[in-house]
Amino acid sequence: MKKAFIVAGLAVMLGACNSSETGKVGNPFLAEYTTPFEVPPFDQITLEDYKPAFLQGMEEQKKEIEAIVNQSEEPNFENTILALDQSGRLLSKVSSVFFGQNSANTSDEMQALSRELSPLLSKHGDDISLNPALFARVKKVYENQDKLNLNKEQKKLLEETYKDFVRGGANLPADKQEQLRKLNSEISMLQLTFGQNMLKETNAFQLVIEKKEDLSGLPESLIANAAIAAKEAGMEGKWLFTLHNPSVMPFLQYADNRALREKIFKGYINRGNNGNDADNNKVVRDLITKRLEKAKLMGYEDYASFVLEDRMAKTSKNVYDLLDEVWTPALAKAKEELADINAEIKKEGGNFEAEGWDWRYYFEKAKKAKFDLDENQLRPYLKLDNVRDGAFYVANKLYGITFTPIANIPLPHPEAQAFECKDKDGTHLGVIYFDFFPRASKRGGAWCGGYRSQTYKDGKRVAPVVTIVCNFTQPAEGQPALLSADEAETLFHEFGHGLHSLFRDVHYYGISGVPRDFVELPSQIMEHWVFEPEVLKVYAKHYQTGEVMPTELIDKLDKSGKYGQGFATTEYLAASLLDMDFHVLKEIPADLDVMKFEQETLGKRGLLRQIPSRYRTTYFNHTMGGGYTAGYYSYIWAEVLDSDAYEAFQETGDIFHQEVASKFRTYVLTPGGIDDAMDMYKNFRGKEPNTEPLLKNRGLK
Ligand SMILES: [Zn+2]
Repeated sequence: MKKAFIVAGLAVMLGACNSSETGKVGNPFLAEYTTPFEVPPFDQITLEDYKPAFLQGMEEQKKEIEAIVNQSEEPNFENTILALDQSGRLLSKVSSVFFGQNSANTSDEMQALSRELSPLLSKHGDDISLNPALFARVKKVYENQDKLNLNKEQKKLLEETYKDFVRGGANLPADKQEQLRKLNSEISMLQLTFGQNMLKETNAFQLVIEKKEDLSGLPESLIANAAIAAKEAGMEGKWLFTLHNPSVMPFLQYADNRALREKIFKGYINRGNNGNDADNNKVVRDLITKRLEKAKLMGYEDYASFVLEDRMAKTSKNVYDLLDEVWTPALAKAKEELADINAEIKKEGGNFEAEGWDWRYYFEKAKKAKFDLDENQLRPYLKLDNVRDGAFYVANKLYGITFTPIANIPLPHPEAQAFECKDKDGTHLGVIYFDFFPRASKRGGAWCGGYRSQTYKDGKRVAPVVTIVCNFTQPAEGQPALLSADEAETLFHEFGHGLHSLFRDVHYYGISGVPRDFVELPSQIMEHWVFEPEVLKVYAKHYQTGEVMPTELIDKLDKSGKYGQGFATTEYLAASLLDMDFHVLKEIPADLDVMKFEQETLGKRGLLRQIPSRYRTTYFNHTMGGGYTAGYYSYIWAEVLDSDAYEAFQETGDIFHQEVASKFRTYVLTPGGIDDAMDMYKNFRGKEPNTEPLLKNRGLK
């Protein structure tokens, strides 16, 4: 949560700048929201409202900063650290809506605006973190902290604020600060370009099927959706498959036509690498070059060192140690799976070795042969609404909280749903939106974001507005949405992030976040409950008959759960290693071929040619788009924590053990970034985590 102070805060001068007392005619961002729970009035916000609100938001924060710097009083916690933390409220208000919508509901105009705003925001951020007079005041408070009688939260805010300045370049000489500004602006523009190219490339590919026999093997629901997609694209009577996950993944899993599997697979793994105007090769090379320049300017030998200093992992050695520890057994497992896959091919009379486009297809068959379990047997029991209610049930059993649908509230998109979350004593905890289905205006994947984060105002808790955005299988006409097992797990995962936001209780923006490699603990721990027989019996009901998932099917699901972890772990680790390898480079040749680098760096570790990195370089938005740069390892880092944490429940023999749950809420979900991450974990668990439960859970030990 770095530089949080730049876009978050409470404007001292908001009243003076608020020109919109006439109600709905004006810019909705410039007035207090009068909606239920004061959620953003999405139905009134138009594209034209953003830019003026951003400009005014930056202007207001600038004035607030000037007021801090120009006051005659000696710097202290209230007049400097707190005032800074509370600055920029309007900017924060418009940013959260703009960036949330730009991810989930974008348009060409919105993307153009984000490109226009990017350098302005980057400059604005630098104007604050590189303001020498402001830093001088912060430094003075920091140096005098022992005399200030600060409480724990205040002390942590002070430390984080000071660190943010140092990491933002405040200690650099003026000429280097100029270079840093330029680099920051270039980096943010390159990251933006990367993401926009990726969206373009994902949307550009179409696999159009005209002959019915080419659909052989595909589930009915997938075929029905492909027919709808074709109709919407003006190709009625045909079937359209795309590179969006709910289309491409089941296609690779079930399509009997090997040539078509190859076609869509190659489309998928070559995104951003097609030599057209959306090619990301040069973008990546420029980006990692600029990042390295920045790291060196800041006095680090490589970009990963700069990033990791501020993470739970601390050093790239610690990251590689974990990745390598898991890599060897994972690769061995993947080889076993490959042998099974090749055996399936032989069994069918095929005279070839498996390639990338065969893996999912024959793996499905191998799984069926081994466990008599077909993914499609599960879907009827995983009706979307039931899975969502299953997540609500788990949260209720653990923490006593409830979720009630809210009618008549503005929605971030017409397809979204809204729920109110209440604590066990009935107090309002926050609003949570769900927006489940793919559309061209939404980026891929699934995430949990926020339209307002929890804070305090005049001593009163301000409740968060959380949003969960997914790209789940669209329901076929006249049918409810039926999820795959993966999708059900994803729903629980994102919901876990949601709980983290809803429970957070922190007084300052600057310490509301946790390190990137801790952030997946609250989400990943929720995945442990999704297929627990005890939980399935509550929510996994057949969408037509209402019959609970049969015990026999639950058993099969349980037994087959670890099968496939060789592939899943290897493709994930490959991406994590790739991300690290790019960012530990200490020199980047001007003619670096990034795809060749990818091939070499993964090849030397023995990655099977049938398993591409989970994300290849030119569509690896986590690391190239920012957010998870030198940080994709975080998922497995946090998995050490969540596996170990879940074991705390299992040790009691009760997966809803109230005392363990209460500790988890108190020490992990509530404190935001008040404590050091490892301390928070130890407060909950009473000891440091170890990797055994993780290896065991993945069937690697
Ligand atoms: Zn997550």
